[in-house]
Amino acid sequence: EAPAAMRAVLEAPGVKGEEVLRLPCDAANEKDAINGLVRRIVAADDPRLMSAFNVLDLSKVAELFAAWQRGLKGVPPYYAVKCNPNPALLGALAALGSCFDCASPAEMDAVLALGVAPDRIIYANPCKPESHIAYAASVGVDVTTFDSVEEVGKIKRFHPGCKLLLRLKVPDAGEALVNLGTKYGALEEEVAPLLRAARSAGLEVTGVAFHVGCAVTRVGIYDASVKAARAVFDAAVELGLPPMRVLDIGGGFTAGRASRFEDACDVIIAAVARHFGDMPEVEVIGEPGQYFAETPFTLAARVFGKRTRGEVREYWIDDGIYGTLSCVVNINGYIPRPVPVASVCHSGDEGEEMHMSTVFGPTLDSLDVVVQGYPLPELRIGDWLVFHDIGAYTTAVSTNFNGFSASEMKTYLASSV
Ligand code: PLP
Repeated sequence: EAPAAMRAVLEAPGVKGEEVLRLPCDAANEKDAINGLVRRIVAADDPRLMSAFNVLDLSKVAELFAAWQRGLKGVPPYYAVKCNPNPALLGALAALGSCFDCASPAEMDAVLALGVAPDRIIYANPCKPESHIAYAASVGVDVTTFDSVEEVGKIKRFHPGCKLLLRLKVPDAGEALVNLGTKYGALEEEVAPLLRAARSAGLEVTGVAFHVGCAVTRVGIYDASVKAARAVFDAAVELGLPPMRVLDIGGGFTAGRASRFEDACDVIIAAVARHFGDMPEVEVIGEPGQYFAETPFTLAARVFGKRTRGEVREYWIDDGIYGTLSCVVNINGYIPRPVPVASVCHSGDEGEEMHMSTVFGPTLDSLDVVVQGYPLPELRIGDWLVFHDIGAYTTAVSTNFNGFSASEMKTYLASSV
């Protein structure tokens, strides 16, 4: 089954036609691929090739998809495009059968261009410009979220056939890396007025959506959130509205860094059984972003500058906080872990002397610092540093500041088939 899934991925729009590296099926795959690419670039000695690049491991995307299906059986993932809109990632996920969470017309276009039907898209943005609502109507994206009475008025005017999910603010106890509840989600006391407003507008509220925050560390938060969602289903019945049928459990999942995916699945399955056991007809959906985007991407950046100040080594690399490594400033507590490419830069031997090092990004901003006080072997110009698990909210948030654009980077795709 796995090779069949991978064959579909390799034929997918966004993937087909790109350079795909075939890897042997062993655990060292990704590392071998990156090191091999770096050695190829070093050997070519061509300045046009001497720049940072990303690798997307397509096999890992397929593995993550299979693990999602095992862990959350019957819960379709709507991949949150905002997390990383790389066309090959979107194409691979579409080929595997994923649905999509889009927050804007541009994200809808990116997904529709892959041949994904509009009914596999949810417009999961609670507050939208009117022109964007009209665009969703024109392309047939007919489900959206809302958390204000004002939004109901706009949707009635520009997309009266749209189905609504009420976005609920859930308890902020998941110790998330990013708390979305400070901006989005209806408070408990706002639920009934919102449901009444939708009814008066003739719009159907088909369910409830929540987001526990990105990269939660306490997965027990899903239970409290599912319970709070059930109270909204009950409130709708009390108001005499048609029964709701969709429970959107949002994102917050990681493939290991903040919490174990399997632990989150266990909590969710138990919570749905506990709070929705009497409503088997309810369809549960999810909006994972980081879970699918983080671990399949690896960045390799090249050292192009060096200065020695006493004991400290200072290096400049050709990607930084305005590029792929934007997560250093945008994600609270994110600590990058650059790994030097053994045999290009250094011996890799144990006992190799380490130096406290600062790694700067390429822009002229003194804030553009990737790591400081970080132990690295002595590096030279032309050596390479690798950053693993770098796909979530990284290139998606990057800029062209100082003319160093993340788009100049090459994306190589790795596959074990
Ligand atoms: N859904 C919505 C509405 C979001 O705002 C986000 C992230 O901001 C996501 C899904 C994806 O979240 P995560 O990356 O935590 O899975």
